[in-house]
Amino acid sequence: MAAIVKLHAEERETEKIASSSSSMSETTEAEEKQGVLLYYKYTSSPIEDLNQLFTFYESNCSSLGLLGRVRLAPQGVNVTIGGKISHLHNHIAALLDGYGGYFEGTDFKIASYDEALSMEVAKECGFTSLSIRIVKELVTLSSNPLVKTPSISEAGRHLSALQFHSVLKNSGELLKEESPIDFKKLVLLDARNLYETRIGKFESPEVETLDPVTRQYSDLPAWIDSNAEKLRGNCVLMYCTGGIRCEMASAYIRSKGAGFENVFQLFGGIQRYLEQFPDGGFFKGKNFVYDPRISVGSSSKHILGKCLLCGTTFDDYSSRCRCAFCRMLVLVCNDCKTESAQYACELCQKHGKVAQSVPLVNDDCSEVIPECDIGTAPTECPTHLSTNQIQSPFIPGPLKKLRILCLHGFRQNASNFKGRTAALAKKLKSLAELVFVNAPHELPFIYQPRKSEKECISSSPPPTKNCSKKFAWLVAPDFQQKEAIHWESINSSFDPLQYQQQTEGFPESLSYLKSVVSNEGPFDGILGFSQGAAMASLLCAERKRLNLELGFRFVILCSGFAVNLAGYEKGSITCPSLHVFGNEDGGDRQISSGFSRDLSSYFEEGCRMIIEHDSGHIIPTRPPYIGEVKEFLRQFI
Ligand SMILES: [Zn+2]
Ligand SMILES: [Zn+2]
Repeated sequence: MAAIVKLHAEERETEKIASSSSSMSETTEAEEKQGVLLYYKYTSSPIEDLNQLFTFYESNCSSLGLLGRVRLAPQGVNVTIGGKISHLHNHIAALLDGYGGYFEGTDFKIASYDEALSMEVAKECGFTSLSIRIVKELVTLSSNPLVKTPSISEAGRHLSALQFHSVLKNSGELLKEESPIDFKKLVLLDARNLYETRIGKFESPEVETLDPVTRQYSDLPAWIDSNAEKLRGNCVLMYCTGGIRCEMASAYIRSKGAGFENVFQLFGGIQRYLEQFPDGGFFKGKNFVYDPRISVGSSSKHILGKCLLCGTTFDDYSSRCRCAFCRMLVLVCNDCKTESAQYACELCQKHGKVAQSVPLVNDDCSEVIPECDIGTAPTECPTHLSTNQIQSPFIPGPLKKLRILCLHGFRQNASNFKGRTAALAKKLKSLAELVFVNAPHELPFIYQPRKSEKECISSSPPPTKNCSKKFAWLVAPDFQQKEAIHWESINSSFDPLQYQQQTEGFPESLSYLKSVVSNEGPFDGILGFSQGAAMASLLCAERKRLNLELGFRFVILCSGFAVNLAGYEKGSITCPSLHVFGNEDGGDRQISSGFSRDLSSYFEEGCRMIIEHDSGHIIPTRPPYIGEVKEFLRQFI
């Protein structure tokens, strides 16, 4: 009976829609409004002949030209289909005619939509084809096999939109009288995902709304487990889009036993509530829907959402911007939107390990997609994307870039190191900002009185003003810092192992770096080149002691070598490290690959990454090396 009554209500609604656009007599079939029909039903007795029901849906939907998504399981059906509104009514009539016994009490929800809406959205929502499938479960609460599916008979009690509203209005007093077990307070629990709750949720001044901030429905049980104390002993008022997600989730909460008895769910979901309270009532913002309407608001026009980039009030998902990493929809306002930009959602930004945040690609979307969540849902079934596509994009603008402090090599300075690494900085610019500083030990200029030498060298000392100063992190034991810059002539060519003789001066460099960090920091990581790498690895070796002051999380050691590390055990330095050096063939004529490899061996193997290249004494910036550098850095975003 109940189903019939509701059906009448929808007929009235249909008339209203039709008459609002044109007079009834003018409405030809071709002009008739398109609509979506949503319903689910957990039947009290299992459906015996699913194949027969399958055949019914197949022939009925095909003959009526209805497209969308139908899921059939022994315990019920979950349907989201679209087509002409009169055809949707024909579908309901035929269903009740043939299978009325199963569908008694079903809440059939019809809504009209404008056909001019984005084809892209229609396609994404599965409104351009008909997909009927027999599945094991209508919604899968968790993809984790260890999470036991609760019995649907345990589900929380249904509250109609009116009841739900009055409970909120008097902060649960109504339920206190009815509940057999006392509860401490009333809480609202939104069973939907972050992209949905961003643009709308229930808000009541007296009642806290718990938002699990999940990417997908199957993440909800884990949230419930770890937030059980927020629910225990309370009266939990759950809601979702149309109701089906609360069925299983409320049963899951109640399955936790004592203290979790008082769970109620909004029957018909936000959709029915907004029909009952067209001004929105306690629901603020818009109801996200999985059909071409995108979202449905109340008359209040209240906007809850915000642009991910600039924070302006905004809640329009029609441009379908998605997180480059997890494919979740994100809100990007029209001013901030650019063709090539890639975005990272709040969760991917927060959880840092972007590469790991990609949800498992589930081949059978029906296993994880909630009600109305048809076609290619925002996160549940990114089957059109390969993992590769998800992981490869650069880290987009809204992410905070990594700040990396760069330490130059021996007899270099910040400015020429910056020049030499310009290509690297450019290729990493979406991920990281490189900051350069001079080392504290200023070196004398040197010259060999031979004409062939380049750069500031001539047969007699040139004027120092044309030469940039040279610095070092570590110096020779006999080094004395001179008051004024001067030239020292050397008569022999450089000792190729000269760098190994620079073993002193660490304490000065350390205290200098502490002041750099306190003035210009914080830095996420340190990049050292050649002697700068030797210096950086000494900082890593002392990281536990220094971390309060220096606070870096990773190190990149390019053409590095070990100085003063003899006292440390191999594998004992636990700082995450990337080692970049020329291999035997490529030939780094200044630092042999053996020394760099030896340095890497001091670092713990589990958090160490090594890139051997064939480009000599430089930091390579071409593929595949640059991709590996980025891969390393993304771990720290
Ligand atoms: Zn914006
Ligand atoms: Zn994301």
